[in-house]
Amino acid sequence: MKHHKFAAFLAAAALLAALTSCAAEPAPQTASERDVFAMDTFMTMKAYGDGADKALEAAEARIFELESELSVTEADSDISRINSAKGAAVEVSPDTALLVGAGAQYWQDTAGALDISVYPVLREWGFTTGEYKVPDSSTIAKLLKNVCGGEISVSGSTVQIPADSEIDLGALAKGYTGDEIMAIFRENGVSSGLVSLGGNVQALGSKPDGSDWRIGIKDPFSPDENMCVVSIADKAVVTSGNYERCFEADDGKVYWHIIDPADGCPADNGLVSVTIIGSKGLQCDALSTALFVMGTDKAQTYLADHTDVEAVLVTDDGRLLYTDGLREKLDITGDMPSEVIARD
Ligand code: ADP
Ligand code: MG
Repeated sequence: MKHHKFAAFLAAAALLAALTSCAAEPAPQTASERDVFAMDTFMTMKAYGDGADKALEAAEARIFELESELSVTEADSDISRINSAKGAAVEVSPDTALLVGAGAQYWQDTAGALDISVYPVLREWGFTTGEYKVPDSSTIAKLLKNVCGGEISVSGSTVQIPADSEIDLGALAKGYTGDEIMAIFRENGVSSGLVSLGGNVQALGSKPDGSDWRIGIKDPFSPDENMCVVSIADKAVVTSGNYERCFEADDGKVYWHIIDPADGCPADNGLVSVTIIGSKGLQCDALSTALFVMGTDKAQTYLADHTDVEAVLVTDDGRLLYTDGLREKLDITGDMPSEVIARD
């Protein structure tokens, strides 16, 4: 009898142990996934939770809606209508007004490093078409006269730029798209999700098991490999690198798609890769491009004054610089020497 009771006790204890271990380790959830090609970028999305399928459907529709408003090549997009308005005010969607306004604001905030009106210069280099060439300096000088970041105005839902200027939102659009997808995920009850939009990665929450997402950052000197891995939850990780959309010219030099508005040439101020980590995709995207243009010294000064984002910079002489907030979050996997950017 006594023996039986003990056996029953053991069975109950075993059952309890099984139940508690179930509670501690929920069955792995399966992800709903979707791939989209838009904004000239291969995009992947992954979501967990009851509303995941609905969320992915809505996110895909939103991506195409944003593309049709913001595209610089589609003739009836808001941006094309602004660019062909010859200086007149143009009525645009709330998305376009918000992003053009952000472009004007970041121009000011980054001392002109981010300038959405650099587009005609970018086109002359062939970065918009893939028909690459090195323009002669008089052509660049002529085009630079109409680069006018300080003269872009947004008032309510209308946008106005100078008659001979043209804008493009390539530096901002994917960051904003990431923010919009996160909002759609949240509205649909997604508990955990990850999107990759080219060089932009953005996460909702942490992984379904509660641990951080681990995001690899490419080695700009060997872009098939990662140089480090950053652990994040609820953050965007946005990289601008000199290895994306670049070409080697007859002069043997490599030119890339981030233009320094100061001279109309690919920005070559000491940095070859800039990654910004923060809670807003739009801000991270704007700053990844802008700090790339600023270069090694000015980017570090900017980061010292703006502690709401973290950053990983790579210099052209092969040093990896990262902000002190990443000390516990960054695994350096390559053999680049690293230094911490101190901030008070
Ligand atoms: P990607 O487009 O590869 O994600 P970025 O976010 O760094 O990379 O944005 C680069 C894009 O921004 C370019 O393709 C171009 O459309 C635009 N651009 C290039 N230089 C500048 C600049 N100085 N200011 C604003 N936009 C720029
Ligand atoms: Mg950018």
